[in-house]
Amino acid sequence: MQNPGKWGIKGAVLQNVLMKRYTSMKVGGPVSYLIYPLNEGDLLNTIGVLQNEHIKYRFVGNATNIIVNDKGLGEAVVRITRMRSSQHKKVKDGALVDVSGGVSLKGFIKDNAQKGLAGLERLYWIPGTVGGGIKMNAGSFGASISDVLEKVRIVDNNGKITPLAKKDISFDYRTSPVKPSECIVSATFYLKNRDKKEIAADMDYVYTERRKRHPMEYPSSGSIFKSVNGESAWQFVEKAGLRGFRIGDACVSEKHTNFIVNAGHATAQDIKMLIDTIKKEVFEKIGVLLSEEVELWGFDE
Ligand SMILES: Cc1cc2nc3c(=O)[nH]c(=O)nc-3n(C[C@H](O)[C@H](O)[C@H](O)COP(=O)(O)OP(=O)(O)OC[C@H]3O[C@@H](n4cnc5c(N)ncnc54)[C@H](O)[C@@H]3O)c2cc1C
Repeated sequence: MQNPGKWGIKGAVLQNVLMKRYTSMKVGGPVSYLIYPLNEGDLLNTIGVLQNEHIKYRFVGNATNIIVNDKGLGEAVVRITRMRSSQHKKVKDGALVDVSGGVSLKGFIKDNAQKGLAGLERLYWIPGTVGGGIKMNAGSFGASISDVLEKVRIVDNNGKITPLAKKDISFDYRTSPVKPSECIVSATFYLKNRDKKEIAADMDYVYTERRKRHPMEYPSSGSIFKSVNGESAWQFVEKAGLRGFRIGDACVSEKHTNFIVNAGHATAQDIKMLIDTIKKEVFEKIGVLLSEEVELWGFDE
């Protein structure tokens, strides 16, 4: 392993870190480095160093949509959650809000609600970051993060910050063309003025419904599979008779059959085997091919 002390990175550089400490599913082996740049300059330096040292890298937000293999990854993971800023610019009927990609989406929505700025409240309580949300085009209750997005600033593969307007990014259902080597450093949203009480009422509704529907009491990665032609994947898992089906401590949630929960000491391998079994059973019994919404890291070999 190289000596990161010589890299000149101002933020924390942790070595040989277990990802299970960070992923919402509470599984995942070690990564070579977990790096927290302090600011944009530090991020650019980090990327330059990793490229010079020929170390592969990826970006991670709150790790709420990834399953990392138990064997881990011989790679660096860069996390920009310590780069936090937001700026509001008033426009006629609302505000253009710039925010760092590492900021918590939930906190961002709450902060804007307190200012009477609306547009993202149906995404309230999605546990990721703004950057992770944009990469996944996260959404709920019929709304997607890209609906109110104006532009992003991305660090590309060459270590350059490039502004991109929303019209130049082809968002689709739970997907964006942002590459694994690109980092969403900041985003600008166009949020509209709305009565604070109305915003709060919508957020309460969303939170209450989530509590009712989602197994929030267990570690999970949210929905495992994407909807198929607009039909929610949980219906297919349910029809295949897999409610409560488990491999080790990886378990199809009794409450929501598109969630796999870690009921204790599940491994990433248990979860991967359960995902593969669900896909096979659903295909054989119903003829529907499910595809993962969750990202599987380190399972390629
Ligand atoms: C209980 C629970 C409920 C959930 N509910 C929903 C829901 O209702 N709707 C929904 O859409 N999702 C939901 N999710 C899934 C998840 O929260 C979202 O996909 C979220 O947007 C992921 O954000 P993150 O910061 O955790 O991303 P991560 O999981 O850290 O990363 C996901 C992807 O984004 C990339 N990424 C992360 N940050 C950046 C960045 N700054 N720049 C470039 N790429 C980046 C990563 O490399 C990876 O490819 C849920 C998850 C849980 C655990």
